[in-house]
Amino acid sequence: MHAVALLVAPLLAYLASRAVTAAAVRGADRVTAATRLRRANRLLQVAAGLGGIALATDSLLDDAVVAAVPGPDTAGLLVALAGTVAVGGVLPALSVHLGSRPAWATVAGREPDYPSVVRRYVVVAGLLTVPAFVVVAAWLAAPAGVSGLPVVAGAALAVVAGLPVAAAALGAVRRPTPAERAVVPECARDLRVRVVATDRNPVANAVAAGVVPGLRYVFVTDALFETLDDAAVAAVLAHEAGHHRRHHVLARFLATGLALAPLFLTASGVFDALLPATAASVGLLLLVGPAVRWTEYDADAYAADRVGAASMERALATLADRGLLPTDRPPLVGLVSLHPAVADRLSRLRDHNRF
Ligand SMILES: [Zn+2]
Repeated sequence: MHAVALLVAPLLAYLASRAVTAAAVRGADRVTAATRLRRANRLLQVAAGLGGIALATDSLLDDAVVAAVPGPDTAGLLVALAGTVAVGGVLPALSVHLGSRPAWATVAGREPDYPSVVRRYVVVAGLLTVPAFVVVAAWLAAPAGVSGLPVVAGAALAVVAGLPVAAAALGAVRRPTPAERAVVPECARDLRVRVVATDRNPVANAVAAGVVPGLRYVFVTDALFETLDDAAVAAVLAHEAGHHRRHHVLARFLATGLALAPLFLTASGVFDALLPATAASVGLLLLVGPAVRWTEYDADAYAADRVGAASMERALATLADRGLLPTDRPPLVGLVSLHPAVADRLSRLRDHNRF
């Protein structure tokens, strides 16, 4: 029964994605349509991936693989886990992604190049899942108990440090052109600014990544240069530079790691109270939200000091207008969200102006 469901899941995911994404782009301008598509694509991929993984875990696939792989149990477990993620998670999610390509074609005005779409997807899926496997493998290989903690933390830190380097090398990423370079503000000059090509997926976005000095990156999509004027782009880059300068990237990693520590220690057999440990981890993770939201205000303030509050305000307002940042939202969503609403960020920037 589960095997049949696993076989038809990618087909169903593809068909659902085609229908939903076709509806999402109807009657919208290019950038809005791209934003809606990205959101629908992401939500459907998460749903298809999680549903598929639940099915695969519940099927006999896992046990069969563990039994079939020779050698220590750890190797069998890792191979079974990889199989579950690939068949249950990546395949249905890829089907959703492929189902959204015809809708993308209407936004980008070009026919999809399916082989390159699949190639890109596999690279991104690898960049997202291989790090998790490295951490899980470190955990399985580490000594049990508290002494295993530094091994797992070290593996996780190596992944956080190495991931942007791998993304820059393997992803559709290039160095800025001289014109783009000229927009980079002074405070971001010694960071590795890289432009993510989004020709088929014109979404304005930027992110700070990496924790090792010299290997700290700011990734920015080419669509951001199209969407914002030069001073506003400089403000977004200064905001991302602020995340590096004020050590937000490392702080976010440490906060998440600390929040997950009770769960890890229980899974390693140090504590045997799963329920309190889960409650502690969930409680701590809920505290990470406000901390991350504070780093957003702090990075806005950093950017306002470097390039002027007016540019930062214009960048936020334009991105909110295009539906790329939430303007307002229900309190419950705000509580667990990692980014504050733009209205709050703008009012903080205005306060910032007064001093
Ligand atoms: Zn930020």
